[in-house]
Amino acid sequence: MTSDRRRRAVVVGASVAGLLAARALSDTCDEVVVVDRDELVDGPGRRRGVPQGQHVHGILARGQQILEEYFPGVTGELEAAGAVVGDVSGDVRWIMDGVAMSKADSGLLAVSVSRPVLEAHVRRRVRALANVTFHDRTEAVGLTFDAWPRRVTGVRTVSRDHPDVVRVLPSDLVVDTMGRGSPVPRWLTDQGWPAVPEERTRIGLTYTTRHYREGVEPSPGDISVDIVATPDSPRGVICARIDGGRQVVTAYGILGDAAPTDPEGFLDFVKSVSSPEVYEAMVDAEPLDDPVSYRFPASLRRRYERMASLPEGLVAMGDSVCSFNPTYGQGMTVAALGALVLGEHTAGDGPPDPVAYFRDLARDAVDEAWRQALGNDLAFPDVEGVRTPEILADQEYIGRVLAAAQENGMVAAAYARVIGLVDRPEALRTPAVRAALKDE
Ligand SMILES: Cc1cc2nc3c(=O)[nH]c(=O)nc-3n(C[C@H](O)[C@H](O)[C@H](O)COP(=O)(O)OP(=O)(O)OC[C@H]3O[C@@H](n4cnc5c(N)ncnc54)[C@H](O)[C@@H]3O)c2cc1C
Repeated sequence: MTSDRRRRAVVVGASVAGLLAARALSDTCDEVVVVDRDELVDGPGRRRGVPQGQHVHGILARGQQILEEYFPGVTGELEAAGAVVGDVSGDVRWIMDGVAMSKADSGLLAVSVSRPVLEAHVRRRVRALANVTFHDRTEAVGLTFDAWPRRVTGVRTVSRDHPDVVRVLPSDLVVDTMGRGSPVPRWLTDQGWPAVPEERTRIGLTYTTRHYREGVEPSPGDISVDIVATPDSPRGVICARIDGGRQVVTAYGILGDAAPTDPEGFLDFVKSVSSPEVYEAMVDAEPLDDPVSYRFPASLRRRYERMASLPEGLVAMGDSVCSFNPTYGQGMTVAALGALVLGEHTAGDGPPDPVAYFRDLARDAVDEAWRQALGNDLAFPDVEGVRTPEILADQEYIGRVLAAAQENGMVAAAYARVIGLVDRPEALRTPAVRAALKDE
């Protein structure tokens, strides 16, 4: 920023996307204010605004790389706090339709940690930035616009300590990181802006999660076992070693199928997936809590990039723009990619051009993750959606890649790098990978 005036950004929502937005803006703005309606205590703890935090939460390899770039040493800090670290392909046991994928190191780190611990570490690092301040227990209730509502000039807030007083936080830029339920699209239509186009893929997913003491493990030495739901076996279970000497076990079903929350029903569901190892280990493991459920009706993408015009002084990122089927573990990484885009678009003088920002956010942060997620979701015959020739061809090709990955560690590692959003999908079409496919 080279102009004389100090530039102030207000980030609304202090979960992973908001924290990463604040980190990006700390380089390009003079002052960054982060607002959240929850109380943000030091250290990990469950909080109301992030109910998904109790369930398994893996960060993809690209997200881990960006975290480490933004907060050098954070991987070591997480490991010191109990995170289990290894290779995303060599130390993770992937099972599909009862068959395990071959294992070979991909060169990419998997950091297995509970969501509250991850968020607490990132928050601590953001709090340490000199030009970032936090206003917690503060709810955003609206935006302020200049007389002709072309430009957002601030955020209307209410503090939990003074619920009758609406305060305006003036800003040059507001970043909406309020998550999937963000009220910003409604605030815009209230001002006469057209509705933000939305796309949904109804998946009817339910996560049910229970924690166990580490000791009896389904695949000793591995970070996690991921028995993936497939069209032939549409129930999945993930068992990951995490901080606190614990294992988190998340079982999931789609289209209304759900693991029960009573301990016996939960174990029966875990037993019904395509491979027995998690069930066999959990029968003897010590549970640390009762199972809890979370329903995720549909993936949701808000197509801001399709708006012909948008008010200046307002952008969005993270789940408020795109909330993915969580079984692919993409949300936090897409938020991290979004922070990179935000940093680029705020590096110059003046406010970012929102139309250009959302175009680049779609292209550089969201499109590839959405393409992968949609292709996977639409492989389930009862999931509604348009199966374009490209999607069908890609599903057929990925099926062959996965078949080869059962015997060939190089192919499995290449696949892990693509779904980790590190390599582009073309990396699965190199001569070496093709040579490993049957009927090529
Ligand atoms: C069950 C489940 C499992 C998941 N597993 C994974 C995984 O394995 N890997 C992965 O990468 N992602 C996963 N995700 C997605 C991941 O949780 C999100 O992508 C990530 O938290 C980033 O979201 P966000 O910061 O945009 O929004 P959120 O995490 O939803 O946070 C929104 C924040 O905004 C605050 N807020 C909301 N409204 C207001 C308001 N009016 N005023 C002030 N503050 C407000 C809330 O308190 C909250 O702090 C999962 C999601 C679910 C539902």
